[in-house]
Amino acid sequence: MKVEILPALTDNYMYLLIDQDTREAAIVDPVQPQKVLDAVKKHGVKLTTVLTTHHHWDHAGGNEKLVKMEPGLHVYGGDSRVGALTQRVSHLTALKVGSLSVKCLSTPCHTSGHICYYVTKPNSPEAPAVFTGHPRGDVQGTDRDPGQPGPQNGTEL
Ligand SMILES: [Zn+2]
Repeated sequence: MKVEILPALTDNYMYLLIDQDTREAAIVDPVQPQKVLDAVKKHGVKLTTVLTTHHHWDHAGGNEKLVKMEPGLHVYGGDSRVGALTQRVSHLTALKVGSLSVKCLSTPCHTSGHICYYVTKPNSPEAPAVFTGHPRGDVQGTDRDPGQPGPQNGTEL
């Protein structure tokens, strides 16, 4: 798997997750849709999935616009307040992005419907990645490495 970190707004990050085997991609918290589509084009991948960590506008605020620009996306999130949601997930919901496995982890502390996404490549030695939505450390208990734009290594769980 490949992860491109896209700086967003003034102090946020979006993460473009790419499955190199199928060229399928997911975007985590696409608050700035045009930036996302530019990165998708640059990498020549097919964007199929939106992973939303929580409903706050600086994370989910771009969902509606992105879906208008790129119809047919699967939009996942753990909260009915997430914009353009197509499937509400809960703790341990499993989904796929190409050949990558994504496990949803409920982490209700920053918001009640907060989901972290734990991504692995099955049958591969590749390190897993976890997308928390607040890598700068404002989620209680996950701020071991503040200031580092994740994804943090899976062992940080
Ligand atoms: Zn927030």
